[in-house]
Amino acid sequence: MKQTVGRFAPTPSGRIHLGNLFCGLLAWLAARKENGKMILRIEDLDPQRSRMEYAEKLQEELLWFGLDWDEGGTKGGQHSPYIQSQCDETYQVAIEILQQKEMLYPCFCSRAELHTANAPHLSDGRYLYSGACRDLTPQQQAEKAKQKTPALRVKVPEQVICFEDLLYGTQQENLAQQAGDFMLRRADGVFAYQLAVVVDDLRMGVTQVVRGRDLLGCTPRQIWLSQQLGAERLPQYGHIPLVLDSEGNRLSKRDGALSLDCLRQHFTSQQILGKLAFLANLIDCPKEISLQELIPLFEWEKIPKQDICLPTNLFEV
Ligand code: GLU
Repeated sequence: MKQTVGRFAPTPSGRIHLGNLFCGLLAWLAARKENGKMILRIEDLDPQRSRMEYAEKLQEELLWFGLDWDEGGTKGGQHSPYIQSQCDETYQVAIEILQQKEMLYPCFCSRAELHTANAPHLSDGRYLYSGACRDLTPQQQAEKAKQKTPALRVKVPEQVICFEDLLYGTQQENLAQQAGDFMLRRADGVFAYQLAVVVDDLRMGVTQVVRGRDLLGCTPRQIWLSQQLGAERLPQYGHIPLVLDSEGNRLSKRDGALSLDCLRQHFTSQQILGKLAFLANLIDCPKEISLQELIPLFEWEKIPKQDICLPTNLFEV
């Protein structure tokens, strides 16, 4: 059997918070439980949001917890680079493969056009693309290109993608009706997350993707895109609940009190791990525990499906 290859793929757009750490921990445990290896990929595609200093800091923080990796980050490895901002050529090759299959088209729509009142709103807050630029003639494209640099979209078929999530079970989506033609490269030339994540998971030989439930809805598109790029084997996907603050709001990288910096001043790594393992339902009280002790305790069946509100007193000092 092939070795499990897990990965943690944070975006260095701020200091990581407990939710990111929770995801890093579960991805690590899921891979280590199967004697798998772990990759750390830095998803800094968006130059406006990402900063290298955050990428450096998050590596230091992961290592403080013992959440190590075999390849990636600044450590490198056989699939270098592991930093997405250094992978433009690889993403461009994927774009060209799809272009040769005539699956892509330039999209000149403005944000306002994309968000018109009659554009169907999708459950994840996106709008279903109307297809306005799908059938432009080459002349119309050339005319519009004089005014505006286009984004690139991929045409999706009326196809139902079905997969088995390790936690949330059977999922299915009709691509045309529920995802729509999606963007692979923005008008400013930045490659889209959907493309980069697929290309990288494939080229790095990732077999297990563990990440937040907020990305569950991206998975059918990613599975389909992997197939279009010739994937012989798809990774298994396991989405995990989000960690919310005590009022049920999503944690933000700006939440000072729950920043790792602040928590590290008051708790040991084993105390923080124990609290997270308790939230993940791997242990029945928030006691100090080591990563090595946690590995055998990890089981998908134990992880709650509902998002997790932080109990007010859990991280109180
Ligand atoms: N970079 C994404 C994030 O930080 C995660 C992407 C993924 O795991 O596929 O939310």
